[in-house]
Amino acid sequence: MKEAARDRYDVVVIGGGIGGLTCAALLARAGRAVLLVEDHERPGGFARNLTEAGYDFDLGLHVVMSLGREGPFGQGLLHAVLEHLGVEGQLEPVALDPFYAVQLDDERVVLPGAREAHLDAFAKLSPSDAPGIAELFSIYDQSYREILAVPISLGLRDLLGMPIKTPLLFAKRKATLARLLDAHIRDPRVRRVHTALWPYIGLPPSRMGFIPFGAMMASYVGEGAYYCGAGFQALADALANGVTRHGGEVILGTKVAKIGVRDRSVTGVMLESGQQVEASFVISAGDARETFKQLIDAEAVPKRYRRRLERQTPSMSACLLHLGTDLDVASMLAAQITMVTPYSSEQSYARSVQGSVGAVSVTVPTLTDPARAPEGEHTVVVSAAVPIECGERPAWDARKVTGEMLAMAEKALPGLSSRITFVPGGGPAKEPRLRYLGPIYGWALPPNQAAAYRLPHETPIHGLWLCGHWTQPAGGIWGVVASAIQTARLLLDCNKHAGLLPLAL
Ligand SMILES: Cc1cc2nc3c(=O)[nH]c(=O)nc-3n(C[C@H](O)[C@H](O)[C@H](O)COP(=O)(O)OP(=O)(O)OC[C@H]3O[C@@H](n4cnc5c(N)ncnc54)[C@H](O)[C@@H]3O)c2cc1C
Repeated sequence: MKEAARDRYDVVVIGGGIGGLTCAALLARAGRAVLLVEDHERPGGFARNLTEAGYDFDLGLHVVMSLGREGPFGQGLLHAVLEHLGVEGQLEPVALDPFYAVQLDDERVVLPGAREAHLDAFAKLSPSDAPGIAELFSIYDQSYREILAVPISLGLRDLLGMPIKTPLLFAKRKATLARLLDAHIRDPRVRRVHTALWPYIGLPPSRMGFIPFGAMMASYVGEGAYYCGAGFQALADALANGVTRHGGEVILGTKVAKIGVRDRSVTGVMLESGQQVEASFVISAGDARETFKQLIDAEAVPKRYRRRLERQTPSMSACLLHLGTDLDVASMLAAQITMVTPYSSEQSYARSVQGSVGAVSVTVPTLTDPARAPEGEHTVVVSAAVPIECGERPAWDARKVTGEMLAMAEKALPGLSSRITFVPGGGPAKEPRLRYLGPIYGWALPPNQAAAYRLPHETPIHGLWLCGHWTQPAGGIWGVVASAIQTARLLLDCNKHAGLLPLAL
């Protein structure tokens, strides 16, 4: 069993997803002795690649924000981190243009990545809604700008200054997306196309906060929607390299079995091997629920905090089909990401709550990087958001869901079911195998669980911190990178009352 090289570190980070990796690398770069422990043999968490027999799939992730060097909001957050760590040269970012396509009943709408062309596509769909959509995007821009400026730690003076410094966030902090859309879009078709990416936030417009969706759209259709050549494993590998090149240590393929706590303070961790590792700080970047149920003795967690954890709602999860195909996908799809949405976003969500598939996304990474499948073939990932972990638990039938997902994917790729050449882990029968990942974003993102309303980084156990998508400010890759910056700055006690950029660590 794998063991750490030393018995004492300043910081142990549990979990090598993008949140944990980023935080560990930032702390190592700031001179702390850091150990990162990751259960899986590859770093990345949901951002790993799934590689088998010459087929290379993205396990979960489709697209990321803020990987650009320079944009309308300044340097991209992710790019700034990679540059700070000196590993930005390890990636080949590809701006997706078109950004995505939406397959309605018999019609496909292709949405360009560049702002003007994106707005033009909506103007063609419904000229009367064009001004409303343009106005929406300028509100989205303002929300993203304000998010970047929010101080990492909100002291009393910061809170009092919010109505002046970040007026939109202050005024709309409890607003749902639906409320904003009602004031700007009349045509239901425009609304359906514009909100087709609702699974990227994991709630329908009537339930999601407008701020996460707005910031996401401002970045994607402003800074650019990015994919990584060779898949997102390249991002995880670059960050893992960011840890080790600054003197940190990464152990893959082993678990933290226990977090040591004495007198309400962490003492370190115990690895699966039984090795005891001392540390002044332990950062849990895995599932917060497991952290407090499995890694820490129940009596060490204050009752009030346990009750708070129980009140939080997890986000939706995802069902995925990873498939190889010899279909001529390049002649069939205009975009790497196609959202197949036979229903409105609200109806899609309602169907999934009842145990049926409401919408699927079909992504084909080999359209960007053909080397990720054998010649003449493509790797296709079909995914659907499902509320398996939500309160509204559906009657779950994997075979039925697989059939529905394939039938929906066929609207984008006719003939797919009969042209499957490979299924990872599937054996010779090439039977599509439903894979389940989740919750997609840690806690769900309704207005009362977003940003400062999310679980804080610091826990009631002194020296135990949270990072990643189970804590502030949000889920998704941008969210967990922001979370890592926040955790690192708070732990280092530096520039706490400044915004995310410059990194200033
Ligand atoms: C299907 C799917 C599609 C998605 N698509 C997108 C997208 O297109 N764009 C986007 O921005 N976001 C997307 N997301 C969300 C995004 O992937 C996540 O929000 C983000 O990757 C979470 O990162 P994290 O580091 O917080 O956690 P994770 O990626 O979950 O990493 C946590 C890691 O901790 C490890 N771990 C846990 N416990 C222990 C332990 N005791 N010891 C050692 N290791 C441990 C786990 O093995 C895991 O690797 C998607 C998510 C899913 C599931």
